[in-house]
Amino acid sequence: MEDIKKILHGIKENVLMAGHTTFKIGGQAKFFFGAKNQKGLIKAIKAAKLFNLPFFILGSGSNILVSDKGYKGLVIKFQVSSFKFQKNKIIAGAGTKLRELVNTSTDKELTGLEWAVGIPGTVGAAVYGNVGAFGSSMADSVHSIKALDIKTLKIKTFSNKECRFGNKSSVFKKKKNLVILSVILELKKRDKEEIQKEIKRFSDYRKRNHPLNFPSAGCVFKNYAKKIKNKNLLKKFPELNEFNKGSRIPTSYLIDKCGLKGKVIGKAKISEKHANFIVNLGGAKTKDVVKLIKIIKKKIKEKFGIELKEEIQYLK
Ligand SMILES: Cc1cc2nc3c(=O)[nH]c(=O)nc-3n(C[C@H](O)[C@H](O)[C@H](O)COP(=O)(O)OP(=O)(O)OC[C@H]3O[C@@H](n4cnc5c(N)ncnc54)[C@H](O)[C@@H]3O)c2cc1C
Repeated sequence: MEDIKKILHGIKENVLMAGHTTFKIGGQAKFFFGAKNQKGLIKAIKAAKLFNLPFFILGSGSNILVSDKGYKGLVIKFQVSSFKFQKNKIIAGAGTKLRELVNTSTDKELTGLEWAVGIPGTVGAAVYGNVGAFGSSMADSVHSIKALDIKTLKIKTFSNKECRFGNKSSVFKKKKNLVILSVILELKKRDKEEIQKEIKRFSDYRKRNHPLNFPSAGCVFKNYAKKIKNKNLLKKFPELNEFNKGSRIPTSYLIDKCGLKGKVIGKAKISEKHANFIVNLGGAKTKDVVKLIKIIKKKIKEKFGIELKEEIQYLK
């Protein structure tokens, strides 16, 4: 394996992934490479193929849980973070931080990304997972996407429709053979003060309701995007009737009703502030988080008959 270093300059070996995730958890990646441009990305993918190594595309590591045993392949951090405005459109490299796009579009008096304030990820990953909050998501602003097919190494453009956005999902997440290179977002004109007011409202909400003083990967599970029809449950938990109106049952509510808020295993804890967050109290292991995830899934299945689906991505 010595030779991969000869063809991929700058590649690092045995890199602790805890340092590359907002959870601050995870063992070593066998290899780690920061791709500063498209050429570097393609070179890394070719090298991984040549040496028969699995590879993983990393953004900011704010939605992943890496095994304690690490990853026996090549982690490629796609770092292209340049962006420009063309009238009401932003053309951004996939590695651009959402935070930066929220700030600069506000300066340009463009609306559409206010909901993304406080999300610590890249725009590429946000498209991949159709990230969203406060009733909006990436799907609302995406004009088109350029992505690399890792099998053919050809670049293809996807229209918003072709991205097949769904509940925290997209064609990129489903197919797994595409790396998002750049994103074109289409925004609308709005008064700057109005935008700033909205951003403050969302930001204050996050501070009040999310456990931001501990490392985490955000919400662990997707919300349940269907209605609950079981009459006994609707009688026992009357709030479900309200949630049913929007066909969206918050997972934090379900976890709370299972009495799991505040449960600790090792140094991992189900947040008391927001039960869909598992937080790292300091030195948590992935196995602790996984145990909590299993308990939550089991209890919610037993009590509500719902199969929860993880929003976080595993890397093992
Ligand atoms: C405090 C906190 C608050 C959060 N709030 C929200 C929220 O309100 N709403 C929400 O939806 N999420 C939220 N998240 C989760 C997370 O920030 C988002 O999912 C974010 O978009 C992930 O971006 P990332 O760059 O960190 O991706 P990573 O965690 O690095 O990767 C996530 C996935 O995207 C894939 N990926 C990354 N880049 C590319 C690319 N260029 N092409 C193809 N695939 C790619 C990765 O392979 C991986 O499968 C929150 C997280 C935290 C820690």
